[in-house]
Amino acid sequence: MSVRVLVTGGTGLVGQGIKYVIDTEPANSPFGKQDGEEWFFVGSSEADLRNAEQTKKLFEKYKPTHVIHLGALVGGLFINMKRKLDFLRDNMLINDNVLHNAHEFKCKKVISCLSTCVYPDKVEYPLDETKIHLGLPHESNFGYAHAKRLVDIQNRAYKDQYGDNFTSAIPTNVFGPHDNYDLESAHVLPALVHRCYLAKKNNTPFVVWGSGKPLRQFIYSRDLAKLFIWQLRNYDDVEPLILSVGEDEEVSIKEVADAVVKALGFKGEYKFDTSKADGQFRKPASNKKLLGLIKDTGFKFTPFDQALQESVEWFLQNYEKARTGKPQ
Ligand code: NAP
Ligand code: GDP
Repeated sequence: MSVRVLVTGGTGLVGQGIKYVIDTEPANSPFGKQDGEEWFFVGSSEADLRNAEQTKKLFEKYKPTHVIHLGALVGGLFINMKRKLDFLRDNMLINDNVLHNAHEFKCKKVISCLSTCVYPDKVEYPLDETKIHLGLPHESNFGYAHAKRLVDIQNRAYKDQYGDNFTSAIPTNVFGPHDNYDLESAHVLPALVHRCYLAKKNNTPFVVWGSGKPLRQFIYSRDLAKLFIWQLRNYDDVEPLILSVGEDEEVSIKEVADAVVKALGFKGEYKFDTSKADGQFRKPASNKKLLGLIKDTGFKFTPFDQALQESVEWFLQNYEKARTGKPQ
């Protein structure tokens, strides 16, 4: 049976993580490419997924049997605070077009990507798969959060009305090669790598935004990639699945900044700009359901320091072509 996997957002951080694993793991190994599979990684230059006609043409071109839907307007806290309507509208349009076409083209399976950012601000911790809709999201990213929550609602409606096999994954903060390093729109880890790199290069202070106290869980894009590949082949349930390190592996923003300083060998002045927002203080997610499901796969998370080192090396080697905010 031929399996044609379309990865939307295939040019981004997570998409390129999946491409790396598919290209480098041995064929027919648990996370490697299987006989009969074809993978297509597409970005916005192939189709603007906000556009219904372009999305339909993309499905006509690739005729996917399976979709990993990552394409989205994505960004860190500060761009989410500035562009709430864009994050709401773009992502609603993208998700509606992709799911509608996946249904029309009778795709056998779709995994869409949510985020632990979409959870209620005030809810009992740890977050688990049952708590997505139990209250309002944090005010700083309500546009993105509401658009992404709707994917879970759509998945359930497609299943209820048509029996479609649509589901979702919920990662925590992701980092790795091919990240977005634009200082204004990046997530915290790539933003700090870029800012520390510039501080070292220009002999200026390394400034971390906010108090450094909030806590986050980080997952390496190449680990997340393996979990997506596993989920695509093995998980047939509309209920979302949290793809995360353990809830005991929260790290503070200061610890992340310390690790970045170490990885880049920065020796200069280092300070916090507390006039900048901290965002949500913490959002610890449980990976209990995931660990129960993957216990026999041999999957192991990459240690944080090793993953950070690999990401920093990628950034240093690819500075000219990386998304740093400079004109390409
Ligand atoms: P990313 O590196 O910014 O990549 C975004 C991808 O979406 C790119 O391939 C981009 O294409 C594509 N895209 C954006 N707008 C599009 C449009 N209008 N039409 C078609 N494609 C479009 O983001 P990422 O971090 O890999 O995110 C992937 C998924 O993970 C997203 O659904 C995101 O919500 C989710 N997620 C990310 C994080 C994180 O920390 N990064 C955490 C939780 C969940 P081009 O680059 O070709 O324009
Ligand atoms: P979040 O997990 O959705 O809140 O997104 P981020 O990855 O943007 O992380 C935000 C946290 O990192 C907040 O506590 C910020 O104050 C802190 N932070 C520190 N410096 C930066 C920075 O340069 N960019 C971003 N995005 N966040 C930063």
